[in-house]
Amino acid sequence: MRPSFHPSLVNGPFADPLLFIPFIFENRAVLFDLGDIYALSSRDILKISHVFITHTHMDHFIGFDRLIRLLLGREKTLYLYGPEGFIQNVEGKLAGYSWNLVQNYSNRFILNATEVHSDRQITKQYLCRQKFSVDGETVTEPLERSLLEEPALTVSTVIVDHSLPCLGFCLNERFHVNIMKDRVLSLGLEIGPWLKKFKQALFNYQDPDSQFTVAYAENEKKEKTFTLKKLTSQIAMITPGQKVVYIADVVYNRTNLEKIVDFASQADHLFIEAAFLDRHRAIAQQKYHLTAGQAGTIAGLARVKQFTIFHFSPRYIGEEHLLYQEAQEAFEAGFGQTTP
Ligand SMILES: [Zn+2]
Ligand SMILES: [Zn+2]
Repeated sequence: MRPSFHPSLVNGPFADPLLFIPFIFENRAVLFDLGDIYALSSRDILKISHVFITHTHMDHFIGFDRLIRLLLGREKTLYLYGPEGFIQNVEGKLAGYSWNLVQNYSNRFILNATEVHSDRQITKQYLCRQKFSVDGETVTEPLERSLLEEPALTVSTVIVDHSLPCLGFCLNERFHVNIMKDRVLSLGLEIGPWLKKFKQALFNYQDPDSQFTVAYAENEKKEKTFTLKKLTSQIAMITPGQKVVYIADVVYNRTNLEKIVDFASQADHLFIEAAFLDRHRAIAQQKYHLTAGQAGTIAGLARVKQFTIFHFSPRYIGEEHLLYQEAQEAFEAGFGQTTP
């Protein structure tokens, strides 16, 4: 299966947390956490439509300024999500600058911030051209497990404890479209950009009986038309989509353990913080962080297919292999076990 999403931790395991998830089928990306984003190119930053922030400790939110700076004057709506208190943090950031010239921008840049509580979500919108003043009503809705629902994907959340409410995120691709290239060729077609449009039509739930025109060959000079249903049955195999889970900054206790194991269950890829080694378990507990062993145990209990640890304490520079080793051993020991 060729994945539609390629999540990557932009910074090294010792630097600020930031999971960049570009979509292959569109020129777009989402971000989990907003630590220092200087390692991301402007081109990649401009692809970002939604940013999901676990909590507003500085290392997870310091990228806000660069992100907003790059988007000033652009025609864009940026959606931000964060935990309880998030709106106050966003407004505090915006209040830190002078905005006396932004009314001159001809484009509308809109910032949409949603704060997630255990029972509700609160959304406010800010208009750049009006000095980021609140635009429209504050919307309060009951909390749905999914923060974002689109034809191709959902992003859901879980609230965990990190001495403050902290969000975990799960990106779920609704289904995955596998193209059988030999079948494409045997129909006399060629591999080309039309495949992207074809996948998009499926993700948009386009009417299966509608016509789909394949433009192929050099400069798309040749054309053939099929019903979407017929073309799908001939060249594609639909399989369950990818599940990517991101957990950053959480203390190891029973409630968190049960919540995360359930939330990350059978994920294709779990990204999970592991700040300390088990030998510093007491410090981890005191700082509301996980050890590599605890992260590995959670990944094993959740039976994830792949997991990556990150957010290492700088005390382990040069010893990162110990963190990976400890996590892997705990993963293997915990895999398939039930929560103790
Ligand atoms: Zn952190
Ligand atoms: Zn933190």
